[in-house]
Amino acid sequence: MSTLCWVRRDLRLHDHAALSHALKEGEATLVFVFDKLILEKLKDKHDRRLSFIIDSLKEMEEMIRHFGSSIVIRYGDPVEEIPRLATELRVKNVYCNRDYEPYAKDRDTKVGKRLLAQGIGFDQFKDSVFFEKHEVLTNQGGVYKVFTPYKNKWIETFETSGKVIPDFTCDLGRLRKFKNSHSILDHDWYADLGFVETPSLLGGGTTNAKKRLADFAPRMSDYAEARNFPAIPGTSLLSVYIRHGNVSVRDLVRAGTARRSEGAKTWLSEIIWRDFYHMILDMYPHVTKGAFKREYDKVIFPGGAQEFKSWEEGQTGFPIVDAAMRCLNQTGMMHNRLRMVVASFLCKTLLVDWKHGEHYFAEKLLDFDLAANNGGWQWSASTGCDAQPYFRIFNPYSQSEKFDPKGEFIRQWVPELAHLNAREIHKPDPLMAPDYVRPVVSYELNRKRCLDLYSILKTTEG
Ligand SMILES: Cc1cc2nc3c(=O)[nH]c(=O)nc-3n(C[C@H](O)[C@H](O)[C@H](O)COP(=O)(O)OP(=O)(O)OC[C@H]3O[C@@H](n4cnc5c(N)ncnc54)[C@H](O)[C@@H]3O)c2cc1C
Repeated sequence: MSTLCWVRRDLRLHDHAALSHALKEGEATLVFVFDKLILEKLKDKHDRRLSFIIDSLKEMEEMIRHFGSSIVIRYGDPVEEIPRLATELRVKNVYCNRDYEPYAKDRDTKVGKRLLAQGIGFDQFKDSVFFEKHEVLTNQGGVYKVFTPYKNKWIETFETSGKVIPDFTCDLGRLRKFKNSHSILDHDWYADLGFVETPSLLGGGTTNAKKRLADFAPRMSDYAEARNFPAIPGTSLLSVYIRHGNVSVRDLVRAGTARRSEGAKTWLSEIIWRDFYHMILDMYPHVTKGAFKREYDKVIFPGGAQEFKSWEEGQTGFPIVDAAMRCLNQTGMMHNRLRMVVASFLCKTLLVDWKHGEHYFAEKLLDFDLAANNGGWQWSASTGCDAQPYFRIFNPYSQSEKFDPKGEFIRQWVPELAHLNAREIHKPDPLMAPDYVRPVVSYELNRKRCLDLYSILKTTEG
């Protein structure tokens, strides 16, 4: 039997559910579609994420050339491209891995319908998460809305399954053999797509992903503590690879469960957060439009364009916030602690609607993932699941003192403050740092304003 295996956010050739199934059943052809509808919306024609994807595809192409095969590359609307290619190749089935984003679900439904009309099967497999929506339910069969009980049930489900972690092996020798003059290696796809090659600091592909995982493994035992400090390499830095599927989620669970340290447990719990947010997006797609707890949409944020501009440009006068935003703007990366600090700062100190921040992160983050980004913003704005109560507001000064105690991270990104010592740098005296912008708002004053804004919800807060 001949199958078309459509790769999307799963850019690897190992432990790949759809590809493994396709190759077990017979010959398979790999296809990747540059989605016109997504690419046209990207304003920045130097978007590093495209280079990351192309690098990943190039690595895959190099690997399968050893087997005389190639990846078919198309540019257009997948709803048209996939059924067209399936007909051209006369395949019996199209296989892919499930994607839980509303746009992807809608697209895949349309693709499935068209294929069905052409007498071609369309099957999707669980791959990008460890457990899907119906696999981790409350004892009453309900869907979890809060993280900690979800996590406990996730672990219980894993343990009662005998801790089995499937490995979807891929026999690449069974890929269809053909020559491809428009392959990702032989053709200038940047020119066709209207983008400029802009490599990121992190090179795409599975080899780089595996190197990062190997580099992190000995540091995992320190993770519980070290993960909070942006100036040191305390986290895995794998998110971009996870986002594009250069590693499988099962690779991560294997790494996290192979060790017994507190650090490994904490790291596994982050992987569970990821499953949780994907489940939330799948079950409650309204989160892409507004608050998870709908009553929170009643909060009207008074912060406007000027406050937002100071935030996005890293010119708020709050050193830790400005350092984090400048780092994001230059590298496309931001440490988790800082994401929480700047997100809380935007909506609870500058009083700007969190959805503007969510949108900005979506444009800038190399690891942008709708489920995790939306979940992170809703958590920070206290509108989501397992939200910190709204009255818990991150203090940018004390966060800075606690998590960048020597001011190393600030010094790296805010040169105007580089001469200040560890005591002075978190809340600089304007006389000592005349080149640095003054705080655009008063933290204390706006903290009170924030509490007033959210107080309209007092009656509904549990
Ligand atoms: C406002 C906000 C926005 C965020 N946006 C994104 C996003 O677009 N994409 C993204 O991958 N993560 C996002 N996160 C979660 C987290 O900040 C990043 O996953 C993490 O910083 C990536 O660094 P790392 O790979 O070194 O993570 P590690 O600490 O090594 O964690 C390992 C992996 O677990 C997953 N993970 C870790 N923390 C979380 C979390 N809180 N929620 C979901 N998954 C998690 C990621 O895949 C991460 O790579 C966001 C968090 C916040 C507060």
